[in-house]
Amino acid sequence: MKWTYTLSEPTLDDDEAQAAADCIRSGWLSMGPRTQAFEERFAEMHGAKHAFAVANGTAALHLAYLAMGLGDDDRAGDAPGEIIQPSMSFVAAANMTIAVGAKPVFADIVSLAEPTIDPAHVAKLITGRTRAVVVMHYGGYPARIAELMDICAARGVPIIEDACHGPAQAVPSLGGRKLGTFGAVGCFSFFANKNMTCGEGGMVITDDDALAARLKAQRSHGMTTLSWERHKGRAATYDVTAHGFNYRIDDLRSAVGLVQLGKLEAANAARRRHAEAYAAAFAAYKDERLQYVFADHVKAGTAHVGAVLVPAAQRGAVRQALADQGIQTSLHYPPIHLFTAFGGRSHPDLDRTEAFAGRVITLPLYPGLPDDAPREIAEAVWKAVG
Ligand SMILES: *Cc1c(COP(=O)(O)O)cnc(C)c1O
Repeated sequence: MKWTYTLSEPTLDDDEAQAAADCIRSGWLSMGPRTQAFEERFAEMHGAKHAFAVANGTAALHLAYLAMGLGDDDRAGDAPGEIIQPSMSFVAAANMTIAVGAKPVFADIVSLAEPTIDPAHVAKLITGRTRAVVVMHYGGYPARIAELMDICAARGVPIIEDACHGPAQAVPSLGGRKLGTFGAVGCFSFFANKNMTCGEGGMVITDDDALAARLKAQRSHGMTTLSWERHKGRAATYDVTAHGFNYRIDDLRSAVGLVQLGKLEAANAARRRHAEAYAAAFAAYKDERLQYVFADHVKAGTAHVGAVLVPAAQRGAVRQALADQGIQTSLHYPPIHLFTAFGGRSHPDLDRTEAFAGRVITLPLYPGLPDDAPREIAEAVWKAVG
Protein backbone atom coordinates (compact mmCIF):
# COMPACT_ATOMS: atom_id res chain seq x y z
CA MET A 1 0.00 0.00 0.00
CA LYS A 2 1.36 3.39 -0.95
CA TRP A 3 -0.22 6.02 1.29
CA THR A 4 -0.80 9.62 0.26
CA TYR A 5 -0.75 10.49 3.96
CA THR A 6 0.90 8.08 6.37
CA LEU A 7 -0.11 8.14 10.02
CA SER A 8 3.29 9.29 11.21
CA GLU A 9 6.71 10.11 9.82
CA PRO A 10 9.90 10.96 11.67
CA THR A 11 11.60 14.28 10.91
CA LEU A 12 15.18 13.32 10.13
CA ASP A 13 17.76 14.99 7.91
CA ASP A 14 21.49 15.33 7.36
CA ASP A 15 22.06 16.56 10.92
CA GLU A 16 21.07 13.17 12.37
CA ALA A 17 23.01 11.33 9.64
CA GLN A 18 26.10 13.44 10.41
CA ALA A 19 25.80 12.85 14.15
CA ALA A 20 25.51 9.09 13.61
CA ALA A 21 28.47 9.11 11.22
CA ASP A 22 30.56 11.14 13.69
CA CYS A 23 29.78 8.60 16.40
CA ILE A 24 30.79 5.69 14.18
CA ARG A 25 34.05 7.44 13.23
CA SER A 26 34.79 8.15 16.89
CA GLY A 27 35.11 4.40 17.48
CA TRP A 28 32.91 4.48 20.62
CA LEU A 29 29.42 3.11 20.02
CA SER A 30 28.18 1.87 23.40
CA MET A 31 26.97 4.10 26.21
CA GLY A 32 29.50 6.90 26.70
CA PRO A 33 30.02 10.64 26.19
CA ARG A 34 27.14 11.17 23.73
CA THR A 35 24.69 9.50 26.09
CA GLN A 36 25.93 11.69 28.92
CA ALA A 37 25.38 14.80 26.81
CA PHE A 38 21.92 13.56 25.76
CA GLU A 39 20.93 12.97 29.39
CA GLU A 40 22.25 16.35 30.55
CA ARG A 41 20.38 18.20 27.82
CA PHE A 42 17.16 16.27 28.43
CA ALA A 43 17.33 16.89 32.19
CA GLU A 44 17.99 20.59 31.61
CA MET A 45 15.11 20.98 29.11
CA HIS A 46 12.71 19.31 31.53
CA GLY A 47 13.97 20.94 34.69
CA ALA A 48 14.74 17.53 36.20
CA LYS A 49 17.66 16.77 38.51
CA HIS A 50 18.46 13.35 37.00
CA ALA A 51 17.88 11.81 33.57
CA PHE A 52 18.94 8.33 32.44
CA ALA A 53 18.69 7.24 28.83
CA VAL A 54 17.50 3.67 28.36
CA ALA A 55 16.79 1.13 25.61
CA ASN A 56 13.12 2.07 25.15
CA GLY A 57 10.08 3.53 26.92
CA THR A 58 8.99 0.14 28.25
CA ALA A 59 12.39 -0.30 29.92
CA ALA A 60 11.94 3.18 31.42
CA LEU A 61 8.64 2.10 33.02
CA HIS A 62 10.07 -1.23 34.19
CA LEU A 63 13.04 0.51 35.84
CA ALA A 64 10.74 3.06 37.48
CA TYR A 65 8.58 0.29 39.02
CA LEU A 66 11.67 -1.62 40.19
CA ALA A 67 13.37 1.43 41.66
CA MET A 68 10.17 2.28 43.55
CA GLY A 69 9.87 -1.27 44.86
CA LEU A 70 6.41 -1.83 43.35
CA GLY A 71 6.96 -5.58 43.10
CA ASP A 72 8.22 -5.99 46.64
CA ASP A 73 4.96 -7.52 47.98
CA ASP A 74 5.25 -10.34 45.48
CA ARG A 75 8.93 -10.88 46.27
CA ALA A 76 8.08 -11.10 49.96
CA GLY A 77 5.43 -13.74 49.19
CA ASP A 78 2.51 -11.40 49.96
CA ALA A 79 -0.49 -10.69 47.74
CA PRO A 80 0.56 -8.49 44.82
CA GLY A 81 0.52 -4.72 45.27
CA GLU A 82 -1.76 -2.77 42.95
CA ILE A 83 -0.81 -0.15 40.36
CA ILE A 84 -3.76 2.02 39.31
CA GLN A 85 -3.46 3.10 35.67
CA PRO A 86 -5.52 3.99 32.63
CA SER A 87 -6.89 1.24 30.40
CA MET A 88 -6.90 3.85 27.60
CA SER A 89 -3.16 3.64 27.02
CA PHE A 90 -0.45 1.66 25.31
CA VAL A 91 -0.01 -1.76 26.93
CA ALA A 92 3.58 -1.21 28.15
CA ALA A 93 2.74 0.20 31.62
CA ALA A 94 0.33 -2.69 32.26
CA ASN A 95 2.73 -5.35 30.97
CA MET A 96 5.52 -4.02 33.19
CA THR A 97 3.11 -4.11 36.14
CA ILE A 98 2.77 -7.87 35.56
CA ALA A 99 6.55 -8.12 34.99
CA VAL A 100 7.33 -6.85 38.51
CA GLY A 101 4.67 -9.09 40.09
CA ALA A 102 2.10 -6.37 40.78
CA LYS A 103 -1.54 -6.17 39.70
CA PRO A 104 -2.88 -3.57 37.24
CA VAL A 105 -6.10 -1.88 38.39
CA PHE A 106 -7.67 0.10 35.57
CA ALA A 107 -9.25 3.53 35.96
CA ASP A 108 -11.63 5.18 33.49
CA ILE A 109 -11.04 8.37 31.50
CA VAL A 110 -12.45 11.79 32.48
CA SER A 111 -14.70 12.06 29.41
CA LEU A 112 -14.76 11.31 25.69
CA ALA A 113 -13.39 14.81 25.08
CA GLU A 114 -10.64 14.34 27.68
CA PRO A 115 -9.37 10.74 27.52
CA THR A 116 -6.92 10.94 30.44
CA ILE A 117 -7.22 9.15 33.78
CA ASP A 118 -10.18 10.29 35.91
CA PRO A 119 -9.04 11.58 39.33
CA ALA A 120 -12.42 10.78 40.93
CA HIS A 121 -12.20 7.17 39.81
CA VAL A 122 -8.58 6.96 41.01
CA ALA A 123 -9.68 8.22 44.45
CA LYS A 124 -12.29 5.42 44.63
CA LEU A 125 -9.83 2.74 43.55
CA ILE A 126 -7.08 3.54 46.06
CA THR A 127 -6.88 0.92 48.82
CA GLY A 128 -4.31 -0.29 51.31
CA ARG A 129 -2.84 -2.41 48.52
CA THR A 130 -2.24 0.50 46.12
CA ARG A 131 1.48 1.00 45.55
CA ALA A 132 1.40 3.65 42.79
CA VAL A 133 -0.73 5.47 40.21
CA VAL A 134 0.44 5.71 36.59
CA VAL A 135 -0.66 8.88 34.81
CA MET A 136 -0.46 8.91 31.01
CA HIS A 137 -0.77 12.22 29.16
CA TYR A 138 -2.81 11.08 26.15
CA GLY A 139 -1.63 12.79 22.97
CA GLY A 140 0.76 14.87 25.04
CA TYR A 141 -2.22 16.72 26.63
CA PRO A 142 -1.71 17.11 30.39
CA ALA A 143 -3.86 14.81 32.50
CA ARG A 144 -5.53 16.42 35.57
CA ILE A 145 -2.21 16.32 37.32
CA ALA A 146 -2.87 18.86 40.12
CA GLU A 147 -5.98 16.98 41.28
CA LEU A 148 -4.19 13.64 40.98
CA MET A 149 -1.23 14.93 42.99
CA ASP A 150 -3.59 16.13 45.77
CA ILE A 151 -5.42 12.80 45.91
CA CYS A 152 -2.26 10.71 45.86
CA ALA A 153 -0.31 12.90 48.30
CA ALA A 154 -3.19 12.73 50.82
CA ARG A 155 -3.02 8.92 50.68
CA GLY A 156 0.77 8.59 50.47
CA VAL A 157 0.66 6.97 47.03
CA PRO A 158 3.40 7.90 44.54
CA ILE A 159 2.70 8.88 40.92
CA ILE A 160 4.63 7.64 37.91
CA GLU A 161 4.17 9.62 34.72
CA ASP A 162 4.03 7.79 31.43
CA ALA A 163 5.01 10.93 29.50
CA CYS A 164 5.83 9.05 26.29
CA HIS A 165 3.52 11.39 24.31
CA GLY A 166 4.65 14.59 25.97
CA PRO A 167 8.37 15.47 25.84
CA ALA A 168 9.12 19.17 26.47
CA GLN A 169 5.47 20.00 27.19
CA ALA A 170 5.07 22.79 29.75
CA VAL A 171 1.97 23.12 31.94
CA PRO A 172 1.39 26.90 32.29
CA SER A 173 -1.18 26.49 35.09
CA LEU A 174 1.48 24.69 37.16
CA GLY A 175 4.30 27.20 36.91
CA GLY A 176 5.38 26.05 33.47
CA ARG A 177 6.71 22.78 34.84
CA LYS A 178 7.19 20.09 32.20
CA LEU A 179 5.26 16.85 31.88
CA GLY A 180 7.25 14.04 33.51
CA THR A 181 8.36 16.18 36.47
CA PHE A 182 5.17 15.90 38.57
CA GLY A 183 5.50 12.25 39.49
CA ALA A 184 8.26 10.53 41.45
CA VAL A 185 9.57 9.33 38.06
CA GLY A 186 8.74 10.42 34.50
CA CYS A 187 9.13 7.99 31.59
CA PHE A 188 9.64 8.83 27.90
CA SER A 189 9.94 6.88 24.64
CA PHE A 190 11.89 7.70 21.50
CA PHE A 191 10.30 5.07 19.26
CA ALA A 192 10.09 6.09 15.59
CA ASN A 193 6.50 7.40 15.79
CA LYS A 194 7.04 9.56 18.88
CA ASN A 195 7.57 13.34 18.93
CA MET A 196 11.32 12.77 18.89
CA THR A 197 13.07 9.57 17.91
CA CYS A 198 16.35 7.73 17.76
CA GLY A 199 14.84 4.48 16.44
CA GLU A 200 14.33 2.80 19.80
CA GLY A 201 15.12 4.62 23.01
CA GLY A 202 13.73 6.04 26.21
CA MET A 203 14.48 8.23 29.21
CA VAL A 204 13.64 8.20 32.92
CA ILE A 205 13.75 11.43 34.89
CA THR A 206 13.53 12.07 38.63
CA ASP A 207 14.46 14.63 41.26
CA ASP A 208 14.90 11.94 43.93
CA ASP A 209 18.56 11.07 44.53
CA ALA A 210 17.88 7.63 46.03
CA LEU A 211 15.57 6.64 43.16
CA ALA A 212 18.14 7.98 40.71
CA ALA A 213 20.86 5.77 42.16
CA ARG A 214 18.64 2.69 41.81
CA LEU A 215 17.49 3.58 38.28
CA LYS A 216 21.09 4.06 37.20
CA ALA A 217 22.36 0.84 38.76
CA GLN A 218 19.50 -1.38 37.57
CA ARG A 219 19.83 -0.05 34.01
CA SER A 220 23.18 -1.81 33.84
CA HIS A 221 23.15 -5.14 35.75
CA GLY A 222 23.34 -3.47 39.16
CA MET A 223 27.01 -2.75 38.40
CA THR A 224 28.76 0.15 40.08
CA THR A 225 30.74 1.33 37.01
CA LEU A 226 30.35 1.44 33.21
CA SER A 227 32.76 0.33 30.46
CA TRP A 228 33.13 3.99 29.52
CA GLU A 229 34.28 4.92 33.01
CA ARG A 230 36.76 2.05 33.06
CA HIS A 231 37.96 3.05 29.57
CA LYS A 232 38.56 6.58 30.86
CA GLY A 233 40.58 5.14 33.71
CA ARG A 234 38.06 6.41 36.26
CA ALA A 235 37.46 2.91 37.61
CA ALA A 236 39.46 -0.29 37.52
CA THR A 237 36.77 -2.80 38.41
CA TYR A 238 33.17 -3.00 39.58
CA ASP A 239 30.88 -4.49 42.17
CA VAL A 240 27.28 -5.65 41.65
CA THR A 241 25.12 -4.14 44.39
CA ALA A 242 21.63 -4.92 43.02
CA HIS A 243 19.98 -7.28 40.52
CA GLY A 244 19.60 -5.39 37.29
CA PHE A 245 19.19 -5.60 33.54
CA ASN A 246 20.88 -4.43 30.40
CA TYR A 247 18.52 -1.55 29.59
CA ARG A 248 21.28 0.73 28.30
CA ILE A 249 20.93 2.90 25.22
CA ASP A 250 24.03 3.28 22.99
CA ASP A 251 25.94 6.35 21.85
CA LEU A 252 24.89 5.90 18.23
CA ARG A 253 21.27 6.43 19.23
CA SER A 254 22.08 9.09 21.81
CA ALA A 255 23.88 11.04 19.06
CA VAL A 256 20.68 10.99 17.00
CA GLY A 257 18.55 11.73 20.07
CA LEU A 258 20.64 14.76 20.94
CA VAL A 259 20.04 16.25 17.47
CA GLN A 260 16.32 15.46 17.72
CA LEU A 261 16.16 17.14 21.13
CA GLY A 262 17.41 20.35 19.52
CA LYS A 263 14.50 20.22 17.07
CA LEU A 264 11.85 19.11 19.54
CA GLU A 265 10.25 22.49 20.35
CA ALA A 266 9.90 23.31 16.64
CA ALA A 267 8.56 19.82 15.90
CA ASN A 268 5.98 20.11 18.70
CA ALA A 269 4.97 23.57 17.43
CA ALA A 270 4.44 22.19 13.91
CA ARG A 271 2.29 19.37 15.32
CA ARG A 272 0.20 21.88 17.31
CA ARG A 273 -0.38 23.90 14.15
CA HIS A 274 -1.71 20.82 12.34
CA ALA A 275 -3.86 19.88 15.35
CA GLU A 276 -5.37 23.38 15.33
CA ALA A 277 -6.13 23.00 11.63
CA TYR A 278 -7.87 19.67 12.31
CA ALA A 279 -9.87 21.14 15.20
CA ALA A 280 -10.92 24.16 13.11
CA ALA A 281 -11.87 22.00 10.11
CA PHE A 282 -14.04 19.66 12.22
CA ALA A 283 -15.61 22.59 14.10
CA ALA A 284 -16.60 24.20 10.80
CA TYR A 285 -18.91 21.27 9.97
CA LYS A 286 -20.98 21.92 13.10
CA ASP A 287 -21.75 18.20 13.07
CA GLU A 288 -22.03 16.84 16.60
CA ARG A 289 -21.32 13.30 15.38
CA LEU A 290 -17.73 14.43 14.76
CA GLN A 291 -15.65 15.51 17.75
CA TYR A 292 -11.95 16.34 17.53
CA VAL A 293 -10.37 15.16 20.79
CA PHE A 294 -8.94 17.96 23.00
CA ALA A 295 -10.46 20.51 20.57
CA ASP A 296 -11.07 22.87 23.52
CA HIS A 297 -7.39 23.15 24.40
CA VAL A 298 -5.72 21.97 21.27
CA LYS A 299 -2.60 24.10 21.84
CA ALA A 300 -1.97 22.87 25.40
CA GLY A 301 -0.28 19.62 24.38
CA THR A 302 2.31 18.16 22.05
CA ALA A 303 -0.32 16.85 19.58
CA HIS A 304 1.33 13.45 19.54
CA VAL A 305 -1.85 12.03 18.02
CA GLY A 306 -4.71 13.64 16.13
CA ALA A 307 -7.82 11.82 17.30
CA VAL A 308 -11.39 12.27 16.14
CA LEU A 309 -14.54 10.58 17.40
CA VAL A 310 -17.04 9.29 14.83
CA PRO A 311 -20.23 7.26 15.42
CA ALA A 312 -19.22 3.78 16.61
CA ALA A 313 -21.36 2.01 14.01
CA GLN A 314 -19.56 3.87 11.21
CA ARG A 315 -16.01 3.70 12.47
CA GLY A 316 -14.92 0.71 10.34
CA ALA A 317 -16.48 2.12 7.17
CA VAL A 318 -14.89 5.54 7.75
CA ARG A 319 -11.44 3.99 8.19
CA GLN A 320 -11.98 1.96 5.00
CA ALA A 321 -13.09 5.04 3.05
CA LEU A 322 -9.98 6.90 4.22
CA ALA A 323 -7.71 3.95 3.35
CA ASP A 324 -9.27 3.89 -0.15
CA GLN A 325 -8.17 7.54 -0.50
CA GLY A 326 -4.63 6.75 0.63
CA ILE A 327 -5.10 8.10 4.16
CA GLN A 328 -3.61 5.85 6.83
CA THR A 329 -5.38 5.77 10.21
CA SER A 330 -4.99 3.93 13.49
CA LEU A 331 -6.70 3.45 16.86
CA HIS A 332 -5.19 4.93 20.03
CA TYR A 333 -5.95 2.70 21.84
CA PRO A 334 -7.75 -0.62 22.10
CA PRO A 335 -8.48 -0.69 25.87
CA ILE A 336 -6.01 -2.83 27.78
CA HIS A 337 -8.66 -4.56 29.92
CA LEU A 338 -10.23 -5.95 26.74
CA PHE A 339 -7.02 -7.69 25.65
CA THR A 340 -7.06 -11.47 26.13
CA ALA A 341 -4.02 -11.42 28.42
CA PHE A 342 -5.75 -8.86 30.71
CA GLY A 343 -9.03 -10.72 31.08
CA GLY A 344 -10.72 -9.66 27.84
CA ARG A 345 -13.99 -8.65 29.53
CA SER A 346 -16.02 -5.50 29.36
CA HIS A 347 -16.15 -3.63 32.69
CA PRO A 348 -19.00 -1.33 33.81
CA ASP A 349 -16.54 0.97 35.63
CA LEU A 350 -14.70 1.57 32.35
CA ASP A 351 -17.67 2.55 30.19
CA ARG A 352 -16.21 5.89 29.04
CA THR A 353 -12.99 4.14 28.05
CA GLU A 354 -14.96 1.56 26.07
CA ALA A 355 -17.15 4.21 24.42
CA PHE A 356 -14.10 6.27 23.45
CA ALA A 357 -12.30 3.20 22.08
CA GLY A 358 -15.35 2.33 19.98
CA ARG A 359 -15.49 5.76 18.35
CA VAL A 360 -11.90 6.98 18.03
CA ILE A 361 -9.88 7.16 14.83
CA THR A 362 -6.35 8.54 14.85
CA LEU A 363 -5.45 10.59 11.79
CA PRO A 364 -2.13 11.45 10.11
CA LEU A 365 -0.23 13.93 12.28
CA TYR A 366 3.47 14.70 12.15
CA PRO A 367 5.55 17.86 11.70
CA GLY A 368 6.12 17.37 7.95
CA LEU A 369 2.44 16.84 7.14
CA PRO A 370 1.50 19.29 4.33
CA ASP A 371 -0.35 22.34 5.67
CA ASP A 372 -3.54 21.69 3.71
CA ALA A 373 -3.70 18.00 4.66
CA PRO A 374 -5.71 18.35 7.93
CA ARG A 375 -8.52 20.18 6.12
CA GLU A 376 -8.47 17.65 3.28
CA ILE A 377 -8.45 14.67 5.68
CA ALA A 378 -11.19 16.18 7.88
CA GLU A 379 -13.31 16.59 4.76
CA ALA A 380 -12.74 12.94 3.84
CA VAL A 381 -13.93 11.94 7.34
CA TRP A 382 -17.00 14.20 7.12
CA LYS A 383 -17.97 12.85 3.70
CA ALA A 384 -17.48 9.25 4.84
CA VAL A 385 -19.80 9.83 7.80
CA GLY A 386 -22.34 11.13 5.28
C1 LIG B 1 5.41 4.31 23.04
C2 LIG B 1 4.77 4.19 24.36
C3 LIG B 1 5.30 3.36 25.36
C4 LIG B 1 6.41 2.40 25.15
O1 LIG B 1 7.57 2.93 24.61
P1 LIG B 1 8.57 1.99 23.77
O2 LIG B 1 9.73 2.88 23.54
O3 LIG B 1 7.87 1.60 22.51
O4 LIG B 1 8.92 0.81 24.61
C5 LIG B 1 4.68 3.37 26.61
N1 LIG B 1 3.61 4.15 26.85
C6 LIG B 1 3.07 4.95 25.91
C7 LIG B 1 1.89 5.79 26.25
C8 LIG B 1 3.63 5.00 24.64
O5 LIG B 1 3.07 5.78 23.71
